Amino acid sequence: MPVSYDLHTHSTCSDGTLPPASLIEYAAERGVGCIALTDHDSIDGLDAAAARARDLGIGFVTGVEISTIWAGHTIHVVGLGIDPACTELCQGLSALQRQRSERAERIKQRLAERNIRLGACVDEIAGDAAPTRTHFAHALVRLGHAKNLKQAFKRYLAIGKPGHIHTEWIPMATAIEWIVGAGGIAVLAHPLRYRLARSARVRLIEAFAAGGGGAIEVQTRSTTGAQIEDIAACAERYSLLASTGSDYHGPEQRWNDLGRLPALPSMLKPVWHDW
Ligand code: AMP
Ligand code: MN
Ligand code: MN
Ligand code: MN
Repeated sequence: MPVSYDLHTHSTCSDGTLPPASLIEYAAERGVGCIALTDHDSIDGLDAAAARARDLGIGFVTGVEISTIWAGHTIHVVGLGIDPACTELCQGLSALQRQRSERAERIKQRLAERNIRLGACVDEIAGDAAPTRTHFAHALVRLGHAKNLKQAFKRYLAIGKPGHIHTEWIPMATAIEWIVGAGGIAVLAHPLRYRLARSARVRLIEAFAAGGGGAIEVQTRSTTGAQIEDIAACAERYSLLASTGSDYHGPEQRWNDLGRLPALPSMLKPVWHDW
């Protein structure tokens, strides 16, 4: 059997709900042969995850998912195979985490103006992680303002809603530089999940490759055959390697599990081809 790869996952070190070691245990249970932990703007979980993967004999790749801006849009860039000791990367991620904490205070204020007082609930849910909108969604559900995470986003946190604040993350090109500087490969995350027309998406992919990006996620959750063909064609056109990742956030998101993604189209070179 070929090794099954899942190179995009989250733990409690960002907005996932399983601690890093438990995530690895669950991946092993699900038959994942090689996993990357890619928390939002954080590498805090990598040591614990790597240690558990070693114990269980499953492949582990260091990772991170960096929040960036390209042409005014928030774009996520995954870094794989990064050296977690790289100073420039660590300093850059610390700055993004401070930006997350500041943004969280502004989101709390905006919601309080609408009489939604989340108080310390968000911080309690986030724990040691830098706050994300997902933590707000959990708090909104816990305090009865929404019946589930999806509704919390739809009502309060999605683009255009009071809890969404445009954030000037770092330029996409800077994140690519950090990742490459830390010895990793930059992967454009979930290219179909941005609010971009097809032509703009092609420009994004072109800019990503021109900036030193090395791969693109072709298999992600809820992509159809036609969408995969389209991204596969872009990967070939811009000589990007292909990656596979579920973007798993924990068992609460029942629509998204680990170790379920189909194989990559055979004409593409996978990001793991020379690992
Ligand atoms: P942030 O980086 O803090 O803006 O939060 C982005 C995170 O929110 C993403 O990584 C997703 O995990 C989550 N998210 C965004 N939109 C939705 C949605 N409609 N339903 C559930 N989770 C979402
Ligand atoms: Mn997330
Ligand atoms: Mn993402
Ligand atoms: Mn993600």
